[in-house]
Parts: sequence; C-alpha cells; structure tokens
Amino acid sequence: MKVLVINAGSSSLKYQLMDPSTQEVFAKGLCERIGIDGRLTHKVPAKDLKKEFEIPMPTHAEAIQSVLDALVSPEHGVIGDVKEIDAVGHRVVHGGEAFNKSVLITDDVMKAIEDCIPLAPLHNPANLTGIRACQKVMPGVPMVAVFDTAFHQTMPEKAYLYALPYEYYEKDKVRRYGFHGTSHRYVSARAAAMLGKPIEELKIITCHLGNGSSIAAVDHGKSVDTSMGFTPLAGLPMGTRSGDLDAGILQYLMNKYGWNIDECLNVLNKKSGVLGISGVSSDFRDIESASKEGNHRAEVALEAFQYGVKKLIGAYAAAMGGVDAIVFTAGVGENDAKTRMAAASGLEYMGVKMDEAANNVRGKEAVISAADSKVKVLLIPTDEELMIAMDTAEIVNG
Ligand code: ADP
Repeated sequence: MKVLVINAGSSSLKYQLMDPSTQEVFAKGLCERIGIDGRLTHKVPAKDLKKEFEIPMPTHAEAIQSVLDALVSPEHGVIGDVKEIDAVGHRVVHGGEAFNKSVLITDDVMKAIEDCIPLAPLHNPANLTGIRACQKVMPGVPMVAVFDTAFHQTMPEKAYLYALPYEYYEKDKVRRYGFHGTSHRYVSARAAAMLGKPIEELKIITCHLGNGSSIAAVDHGKSVDTSMGFTPLAGLPMGTRSGDLDAGILQYLMNKYGWNIDECLNVLNKKSGVLGISGVSSDFRDIESASKEGNHRAEVALEAFQYGVKKLIGAYAAAMGGVDAIVFTAGVGENDAKTRMAAASGLEYMGVKMDEAANNVRGKEAVISAADSKVKVLLIPTDEELMIAMDTAEIVNG
C-alpha cells in the first residue's frame, strides 16, 4: 500500500510517500515559499537523489500538484501514475476535545477541525488548506487526519484542568491539550517493543526534545500528563519559547515597556527559551560550542533546559507511581548525548543508572542505561510520518 503523508504549514508543505507495512520511503520532500514564489525539494532515498525546483506555488493546490508531478516524473519519479497512491494521511495540529484518535476525513470531520481553529489559529487553517488542496487534485482518494493532540486526550481531569474559574473550561475549552502526541505515541510503542513487553504493563516517560520540546507520562499505553498545555508555549524552556512562567511577569513587563499582548507573546514565543537565556542561538549545537568556549549564559541555558527535563522526569515518575522506561527522542534527544546524560543522571535513587559508553550514540534505537539499571533509558528516533502512514493504512483498510 502506498500512502502519501502531508504536513502542511502556512507557507510550506512536507510530504513523504511510503509503504507503512514495509516502512519503505519511496520519496519525500518539501514545498517552501507557498504564496510567495515556490520551491520544491524532492528526494528519492533509494537512489540517493535530491532535486530542487523553482515552481510557482500561488496556493497549496499548486504545491500539491508539483509534488504529484515529481512523484510521477519519468526522471526522478517513483510511481507510474498518481492512481497508485492509495490514501493520504494529513497531520493536523489541533483536534480539541473532538478527536481522541485518527479519523477518516469527511465533511463532518472538516467542520470539526474548523471548529478547532480558535485553539490553533496559525496551524489548523494551514492543515485545512493542505487537505482541501489534496481533495482538489486527488478527488476520491481516501484521506485520514492524524492529530497532535489526540494521544493526550486520555489525561485525567486533574491533569488537564487549569486552576481557573471552571467556566473558562466549560465555555471556552481552556485546558491542557498537549502536543507532539504522534511522536509520544510512536516512541512509547517502540519502547514497549524494545523491552519485549506489552505497553499495557509499562510506565514510560517520553522526552521529545527538539526545537519544540515536551515530555509525557505514558501509563499503561495512555498519556496521563504532558508538559505542553493549552498551547505549545508551555512546559520546558525550548529553542525560542519560554515554557512555563509566572503569568504575573506578563503584567509587569507589559506595564514597564508599554507592550500589547501580541508584543509580549512575541517575546515569549520567539525570543525566549535557550535563545533568550544564552543570547547565542536557539540551536543546541551553537549553544554547546559557546558553552565550551566559556560563555556563562550559554552554559546556564543548557543547565536550565537539562534541569527542566530532570524535574519533569521526577514529576511524572511520581504521577505514575514509578517508571519502567525513560525515552529520549527528537533533534536534541536523539543527537545530544550530553543533554541526555545531564537530564538522566543523579536519578540513581529512583533506579536510573546511565551507561556513559552506551549513551555515546546518535540517531538510532539503543538502550543507554547500565545493564543493572532498574529503569531502562532508551534512545528512540521518532518517526511521526510513519505513525501517520500506519494510522492511515489501518483506517482506510478498515
Ligand atoms: P523540531 O522541533 O523543529 O522538529 P527537531 O526535533 O528537528 O526540531 O530538533 C532540532 C534541534 O535539534 C536543533 O535546533 C538542534 O538544537 C538540535 N540538534 C540537532 N543535532 C544536534 C546535535 N548533534 N547536538 C545537539 N543538538 C542537536
């Protein structure tokens, strides 16, 4: 079965054509500058081929068409006809409380995703545009929506409610939703497979540490808590996002600098996190170089991040009454041995014992805890596209 996975942003669109049963990726790539001019980067892994094209993309429809053209191209294509694509899986950021799992896209589903726009005003419209563009150029092909929020819908009320007047939850749906759900679901399932146990018997803490970072407590296969909140701004300090802070700071800074709320949120979203503390970069590699050269702020930025991860590991172990496995994934989690070591060391009292040599690994599944560590620490590269393709195949095949 061939599934096209689409992740549409406001001016970009990522794609991957794959077979979820063999996990073979036939082609993947990226459309950028949609609505501006248009650029397509198309890769065929089996041939180690990478092509770049300038193609006018006034809307997402032209972007999708350019992807289909690339996929069937005699020179760099991977299929003979667009009809070989059996289904399309779409990443959708926000499913609100309407979706606790992936679904076949129907008119009612489109309406429900539209209803979630106020919760994700930047992301959901772009996701919807991507779906509509696909429906236009591939009429009749079944499509599935896979939500970032769905996996966390199993959180209990005590974990998702904010301590605000209850009416803001009831009337306005203000609650913790959590994000990166597809990634947390994928790596927790892989962790169970690596440990050779059913996920229903395990307590797992999944640390998705990338540009955006979140941690989840996955108790017997269900997310019971996660660090991102009503929006992806909450939780850990991130590349440029502040993570959790005292809401009183907003009032203080807005009054002091005469900012409106958008200016204030711009600082919290784009100028904070490890970039804000270090003043160097949002990229952990740059901050690590600066720290090695003796830059104190860079060092503290890394420490603040690592401390944040460690605190949440402790919190989620408490929440679940123990932990069997801790998983590191995403850009930082998969590549940065130092951060993994710092975040998971000093936890010997709760049965976590890292193995320095085993931790000296990048980008592949590995056990990085010591052989006698009660809690297994795992490195598992995330694969959200594969998870989307697998959901799509399962739903379409009934
Ligand atoms: P996104 O949240 O955008 O999907 P990723 O999961 O791809 O982000 O993570 C990207 C981040 O991973 C980069 O900003 C960088 O900080 C970090 N990263 C990638 N490689 C390394 C490395 N070798 N060492 C430390 N950090 C790395």
